[in-house]
Amino acid sequence: MITEENARAKVLESVRALPKRNVDLEAALDCFAAEEVHARLPLPLFDNSAMDGYAVIAGEKRYRVIGEQPAGKDRQLHVKGGEAVRIFTGAPIPSGANAVVMQEDVTRDGESITINGKIDIGEFIRRRGCDLSEGQKILSKGDRITATKLALLASQGIVDLAIGGEVTAAVISTGDELVRGNAALQPGQIYDSNSTLLAALVRNVNAQVAFAEQCRDDLETLTHAIEHGARQQVLLISGGVSVGEHDLVRRALEELGAKIDIWRVAIKPGKPFLFARLTDCVVFGLPGNPVSVFVTFLRFVRPTIWKLMGATDLAPSTFAAELDVDLANDDPKRPHYVRGKFGNGKFSPIGRQESHALFGLSQANALGRIEAGGKLRRGDKIDIEICG
Ligand code: AMP
Ligand code: MG
Repeated sequence: MITEENARAKVLESVRALPKRNVDLEAALDCFAAEEVHARLPLPLFDNSAMDGYAVIAGEKRYRVIGEQPAGKDRQLHVKGGEAVRIFTGAPIPSGANAVVMQEDVTRDGESITINGKIDIGEFIRRRGCDLSEGQKILSKGDRITATKLALLASQGIVDLAIGGEVTAAVISTGDELVRGNAALQPGQIYDSNSTLLAALVRNVNAQVAFAEQCRDDLETLTHAIEHGARQQVLLISGGVSVGEHDLVRRALEELGAKIDIWRVAIKPGKPFLFARLTDCVVFGLPGNPVSVFVTFLRFVRPTIWKLMGATDLAPSTFAAELDVDLANDDPKRPHYVRGKFGNGKFSPIGRQESHALFGLSQANALGRIEAGGKLRRGDKIDIEICG
């Protein structure tokens, strides 16, 4: 049985970033930059006022107001000693001025103002380029495009961007017991929740589900569905990857000539995990239990989709939290991802910790990792990842 880390490395090694494309800025949110971008313009673009007030040469007590400079049009004003220009936030600083005094700190009397306090040189002037220099790198290849990065690009007058390729996925859920939607349940049947979970997880990483099918545990139907699903870049199959007579995913893949790279990983929950390649498609066989689907998606599928999309930082974003209870993992071989709640710096498990326990999973906002055979005490640090 391969370790979780080796399995992830093996999966990631087997995929390459898809070809880049150019999109309008708005369409780039949560995608990954395919090229470096450098500032065309400095920020701020010109010396401007940080306040509504008066632009002056610091040092006097009284000034004569000689004009007004609103934001939006540079009136090319000039101040000399003892002169002030009424100025507004974002307006260009008149030449000669070396400070802005805020209006709350002056008393105005007709065309003159008296300063109530002391003015420092440079006060309330936002200097050209103090935030960002022209030519400075603003995006690295592989960076995730967040709302704030989009805003920075917009500040440069950039309207389109090269990003990584679009990932389309297929989702197949397997099992004779599965019923779709709200159709009447016969004894022994359950509603299919994995299809919904996987579709939502795929959407969460900004990829698209282009094909979804529910399959009975029947080799022919399954083989047919896999053939179809493998036309997408990623195929996610839930259920049927274990060792029972009704677990047919591996056989179906082999009959189609797939190359099975991984089968069974040392991770709890999620051991019966399969990774294969079928033509150009990467295929994940995820265990049917919902918690296993969730954990294996986060640990293996998500970084793969991100890599296809052109991301470069694929490491899980974990941090240390304080454990609020004693916690042990009695499995000697597999790290356990415990579902829990994180708040005020502390993590505590929530709900039942078996792999079928969907309610507990739905209440969790974090996964805590406890090493194989690990024993942690209340107050110890535990590595967690926010997941809800
Ligand atoms: P399997 O991996 O096929 O042996 O399934 C393991 C467990 O997960 C069984 O209890 C299944 O009923 C359950 N299961 C499998 N597929 C789904 C699904 N799509 N939705 C909800 N539960 C499922
Ligand atoms: Mg099954």
